[in-house]
Amino acid sequence: MLKVYNTLSRSKEEFVPLVENQVRMYVCGPTVYDYPHIGNARSFAVFDTIRRYLEYKGYRVFYVTNFTDIDDKMINRANEEGISVQELASKYIAEYLVIARQLNLKPATVNPRATEHIDDIIDMVQRIIEKGYGYVVDGDVYFDVSEWKSYGVLAKLASEDLEAGARVDIDERKQDPRDLALWKAEKPGEPSWDSPWGKGRPGWHAECSVMGKYYLGLPFDIHGGGQDLTFPHHENEIAQSASAYDVETPVKYWLHNGFLTIDSEKMSKSEGNFFTAREVLDNYEHQAVRLYLISGQYRQPLDYNAKAINQAIQSLERIRNAVDTIRGRILILERSGGRVAEADKKLKEAIDKLQEGFEKEMDDDFNTPGALAEVFTFIKASNTLTPKVGNTAVLREALAVLSEFLMILGIDLQAEEGGQDAGISSAKLSATIELLLEIREQARKNKDWAMADLIRDRLGEIGIEVADTKDGPTWKVN
Ligand code: AMP
Ligand code: ZN
Repeated sequence: MLKVYNTLSRSKEEFVPLVENQVRMYVCGPTVYDYPHIGNARSFAVFDTIRRYLEYKGYRVFYVTNFTDIDDKMINRANEEGISVQELASKYIAEYLVIARQLNLKPATVNPRATEHIDDIIDMVQRIIEKGYGYVVDGDVYFDVSEWKSYGVLAKLASEDLEAGARVDIDERKQDPRDLALWKAEKPGEPSWDSPWGKGRPGWHAECSVMGKYYLGLPFDIHGGGQDLTFPHHENEIAQSASAYDVETPVKYWLHNGFLTIDSEKMSKSEGNFFTAREVLDNYEHQAVRLYLISGQYRQPLDYNAKAINQAIQSLERIRNAVDTIRGRILILERSGGRVAEADKKLKEAIDKLQEGFEKEMDDDFNTPGALAEVFTFIKASNTLTPKVGNTAVLREALAVLSEFLMILGIDLQAEEGGQDAGISSAKLSATIELLLEIREQARKNKDWAMADLIRDRLGEIGIEVADTKDGPTWKVN
């Protein structure tokens, strides 16, 4: 049984989707004003793994993640760079998509942009006003928090803390400092759209309410984002969606990822303590970065440091070595023909144990470190058993299960080592060596000893030692 920690109830709950066999989920995506940092990337990777695991469980997942392409940060940066907000958005959306591919994020069902939904946002704001929860001041529209009795349902903050959080953008015209801007009147030099309240642009919180409803319908199953979004962003989203669209609980499960930290501080652009995802991905192998990002339980903080990255690099190598051992054994058995061995049964037991253990950990609020520990327990057993296995079927099953589980974590065993598009995998290298040995055997049959020796010696020179045994040639890397 899958259990997920719901921020709404502050407890782990059994996951039961609203509609059988399908999951509708929305994850707050990047504000596309700059390169995302590696902390943002943690959020992307975490929710990708959650989505992949839900798919593994048999659900059809509708996965929406947005691009915030209009807000203060967008406007300021576009002005600094002397380009339009639209150009800025295109530039960083393209960058996000490159990073997404490098981190092996599965493409979203849809990646909507706020500016594609201005009419829908205006419609929502109008509904809120009509229902008595919104008021207009000089072309701005605010949500009247004091009228919305369940305000704070998600944040669960004391009233004064809710106010303190809202003071960041204090505005004399608000009736209550907690009131949130649904629509902002045009300021000179800012992009704007026509609305019943004059030219202006949407407030940030409005877009996610609107796009969630538009693409998934209300209520939907899962809403995700970093834990900084719990308040005020998601609190406001609940107030807007519930009031505008008459749904008591617009989202069933709220999931929030913990922060990626540096020296125990949240990584953030404003603090300046950040590394961009771009520079990290340029410096380290992409799959190792992905492995690092999901190496901690998603709600816990994850520190960014050289040791943690190196650990991920080593883990990846251990995984690849184990997979190569299995693939190599398959090649050998294919050459020599299979037989039944005691190790077959033991490997099968280890696979079953992996299956059970991996699911148990992931069912426990997506406990990826626990799931990875199960993978390594399996690998340890497989490394000792594989050379003694006599049957390729069980080896293929081991590969299939490992590949499937690692793919849930975002690690693609088919992708080439050392880079995403270049290089040759160890399995292909093994197959090439096997081919050379076949040619050598043919030469020996033809009594072409010079050729046979040449192949053996040349392989020896590059560190591949060939030995002739009564069962045929074997090789090992020195
Ligand atoms: P933004 O582009 O700032 O809207 O952020 C995109 C996503 O990254 C949001 O879900 C944020 O909550 C999340 N996020 C921001 N900083 C961090 C961090 N240091 N660690 C993990 N997630 C973060
Ligand atoms: Zn959002």
